[in-house]
Amino acid sequence: MFKLERREHHRICVCVRKRPLNQRETTMKDLDIITIPSDNMVMVHESKQKVDLTRYLENQTFCFDHAFDDQASNELVYQFTAQPLVESIFRKGMATCFAYGQTGSGKTHTMGGAFSGRDQDCSKGIYALVAQDVFFLLETSAYEKMDLKVYGTFFEIYGGKVYDLLNWKKKLQVLEDGNQQIQVIGLQEQEVCCVADMLNLVELGNSCRTSGQTSVNAHSSRSHAVFQIILKSQGKLHGKFSLVDLAGNERGADTVKANRKRQLEGAEINKSLLALKECIRALGQNKSHTPFRSSKLTQVLRDSFIGQNSSTCMIATISPGMASCENTLNTLRYANRVKEL
Ligand code: ADP
Ligand code: MG
Repeated sequence: MFKLERREHHRICVCVRKRPLNQRETTMKDLDIITIPSDNMVMVHESKQKVDLTRYLENQTFCFDHAFDDQASNELVYQFTAQPLVESIFRKGMATCFAYGQTGSGKTHTMGGAFSGRDQDCSKGIYALVAQDVFFLLETSAYEKMDLKVYGTFFEIYGGKVYDLLNWKKKLQVLEDGNQQIQVIGLQEQEVCCVADMLNLVELGNSCRTSGQTSVNAHSSRSHAVFQIILKSQGKLHGKFSLVDLAGNERGADTVKANRKRQLEGAEINKSLLALKECIRALGQNKSHTPFRSSKLTQVLRDSFIGQNSSTCMIATISPGMASCENTLNTLRYANRVKEL
């Protein structure tokens, strides 16, 4: 439940979450090279080779707003990331929470939790936890009198195109009007009256996201999924919480083995993740110019990067294994850049 204690938070919060070694890694005797020495530090113990071929460990330390070890629950991660932003949407704010990291590092586990389609027995993810707190505030606080209605949207961005996950992956047009307002034409906004309703939407969207695929990761890891909880007052937008399960950031796509389709996918993902970093940095530095036009992802999230009442958190998820070292370092460097002023 929502604790009404107030934590001070800044407009940008960047956290790292390490997942446990999985069965495959354990079987392959992969080593855990990540330690979390304190609640905001991450250490990578990279195995390197000297000229005489002996190996040594090179330690690199990174600092973030919070660092979560592999024992942290979704609830705990939530308390330090998305939860402090929930109330802002009742005060006409735009809140955003991103999960960023390599495929298999725990983005969907963190965001979708029990509703990610595969994790039958795991705890609730951030989608569910935000939904719970939104309805809790709506029903128990002064906001009850504000006549707010709650809506959900769920869409996917793949190859620079937007697909509605609440409408059989219908392809949607994105238009910018004369006032720089971005509209996703025809996006389904479904009104919801309770947490269970909202979770039904998530489930519907997830099943749409993964349908028709032999391997769950094949497509969903190459697309960004955006789930939004919208508050409206008398038909007008009041506040919005966007929860984004980003495409995997691994650089697999520029290897020679990758086919053309994969290369194009990879280039598109790179472009959008670069644009995202620049937009969040612009928000953190209160810059007047936000380069949101550089990608579809940042375009549709434009509202989240501008205005005095926007706040963002990023959860960078990392795999613990030595085999993932390069991707892990890339993730940590990116997350560092996002935060750096
Ligand atoms: P991604 O969405 O980044 O590709 P997933 O969320 O699908 O990765 O995670 C890959 C696998 O690892 C899933 O089976 C998931 O349940 C498991 N996993 C991820 N993070 C954790 C965690 N913190 N604790 C336990 N299992 C996890
Ligand atoms: Mg995923």
